[in-house]
Amino acid sequence: MKAVFIDRDGTINEDPVGYISSPKDFKLFPFTAEAIRIFNSLGFIVIIVSNQSGIARGFFTEAELGKVHEYMIEELAKENAHIDLVLYSPYHPKGCVEPFNIEHNSRKPGSGMFYEALKKYPIKASQSYMIGDGLFDIEFGKKNGLVSFLVKTGAGLDVWVAEVERTSVLTARKSEISVTGADSINASLRKSEISATEADSINASLRKSEISVTGADSINASLLKSEISTTDSERTSAFPTGVCQPDFVVENILSAANVIKILEKQKEKQ
Ligand SMILES: [Mg+2]
Repeated sequence: MKAVFIDRDGTINEDPVGYISSPKDFKLFPFTAEAIRIFNSLGFIVIIVSNQSGIARGFFTEAELGKVHEYMIEELAKENAHIDLVLYSPYHPKGCVEPFNIEHNSRKPGSGMFYEALKKYPIKASQSYMIGDGLFDIEFGKKNGLVSFLVKTGAGLDVWVAEVERTSVLTARKSEISVTGADSINASLRKSEISATEADSINASLRKSEISVTGADSINASLLKSEISTTDSERTSAFPTGVCQPDFVVENILSAANVIKILEKQKEKQ
């Protein structure tokens, strides 16, 4: 079986405060249902994996979290989007509520929720994906052999901008691409006037040159491919550790779904 593991806050829903204790504060992104429908139609088991330290911290109870998840599932079901399994980690070592105020492997980047999912479904990691807006999501994915997507929703934009700034500096230093090129790249990455589709194309080819995309090829060619750049060690150092290096950086979960659709088609052809 193949699965898509998906972070919750900032990936499928808005994350303005960090802790969502009630359905009234839970707002799905408008594109989430479509993304999940794509995963459903491609035959993936869809699994939410969410750190919910608000339980350890005493901000809400497991019962209250359960209500939020019921609401999430219902809202998605209204749009024919199906979630197979919702996993969460209630732990945090700095919490105040026993027995949750401990270090626990279920808290991402720990692998506990991955193993929990394996108990339920015979998932092949090599055919599966992880999508999230935090580096610990990426680390969770990479450690468990999942192709991992960083989305630029939620906290993901900050993570990505830091990466772009870092690599832009490296790029400028090496002066292998023209200033004009670098400007337009940065403009595209930072500004929303670029369409989702274009951004997808850029990101897709940035990370995996084998995906061919029309348009933006010249930008793509220079951006993340080796001629830009940064040696592998430099690129990796833009993230805290090598294991945090995402395979793809995309606008949002729907962009991830569209890239996964392409990857699945390519696998079919092989
Ligand atoms: Mg998140």
